[in-house]
Amino acid sequence: MRIAVFSSKPYDQEYFEKHRKEHDFDFVFFEASLNQNTANLCNGFDVVCVFVNDKIDKETIKKLAKCNVGLIALRCAGYNNVDLEEAISNGIKVVRVPAYSPEAVAEHALALILTLNRKTHKAYNRIREGNFSLNKLIGFNLHNKTVGVIGTGQIGATFLKIMKGFGCKLIAYDLYPNEDLKSIGVDYLSLKDLFKSADIISLHCPLNPDTKHIINKNSVDQMKDGAMVINTSRGGLIDTADVIEALSHRKIGYLGIDVYEQEENIFYKDLSESIINDDYILRLNSFPNVLITSHQAYFTKEAMDEITTTTLNNIKAFKNGEKLKNEVRP
Ligand code: NAD
Repeated sequence: MRIAVFSSKPYDQEYFEKHRKEHDFDFVFFEASLNQNTANLCNGFDVVCVFVNDKIDKETIKKLAKCNVGLIALRCAGYNNVDLEEAISNGIKVVRVPAYSPEAVAEHALALILTLNRKTHKAYNRIREGNFSLNKLIGFNLHNKTVGVIGTGQIGATFLKIMKGFGCKLIAYDLYPNEDLKSIGVDYLSLKDLFKSADIISLHCPLNPDTKHIINKNSVDQMKDGAMVINTSRGGLIDTADVIEALSHRKIGYLGIDVYEQEENIFYKDLSESIINDDYILRLNSFPNVLITSHQAYFTKEAMDEITTTTLNNIKAFKNGEKLKNEVRP
């Protein structure tokens, strides 16, 4: 079985090498992402293995079908970047890694909150330059603050349990409230009431037509002045222009993002010697109260082990013609 691994970085190869001994697959690693322009590279491959910023749209899928690719194996949970209808109608199956260490992402959301609040990144730089002053480093206690979570699936639930340990009041919005969370004190509210009450809003729902730009001018207007917004889910949940506007009036007091709507041209690349032609990311970077990480919330040793073994098992099941328990369908 020949597998083309797209968007592969040294650490992806390292983890595939670590776990491959259990399988006799033939991997070829491409640093390029999979999209309409690179789909022709898939000639002679049975499986393509892709990540969050590969763009597997209609055109790409048609090209994959011509190359006789039978399986798209996502190394991630979200599948908003795959045209599932088109895949099905071309006889290509799609599998994903539905759950791998929700703790990795939930703990990263917490890291964003603590860094934005207590400004440890600024203190680190100051002290290395001999500046021991505390001016402008003041934070706030998390204890007793209201934390609102949108999307209480695996990651949202894990995050809420962490925040309970900080003594926060917990509120949430989900289409399907989780009874276990209610029993630990999570109050499910309407989206409107969540925006009105939360000091910190953390997004953990998938990106789909209902959730696209769930954070926009209208929702920002409903928030408390100075609210903190954290997004470790998908960039498209936030209308970046509206949030920039809100940051410039200090309506949003803090923004922590691990994902960004136009991240596919920027994230995972070293652009330190390049001219960046994305005015939104440059503007976001100019705010003192914005913290951006490059889609790294998932990136722990435990999650990488989980992602790699589940992906290999997904491919093995496909090879053996078994039922694909992690298949995604429209
Ligand atoms: P999950 O499927 O367990 O949970 C998603 C929750 O969102 C579910 O409870 C669902 O009911 C809810 N939901 C769906 N539509 C909604 C809507 N319109 N309004 C409110 N809630 C809605 O998923 P998960 O494993 O918790 O992952 C959540 C998201 O995190 C993924 O979709 C993915 O985009 C993102 N993610 C990011 C990283 C990262 O590295 N930054 C890593 C993994 C996952």
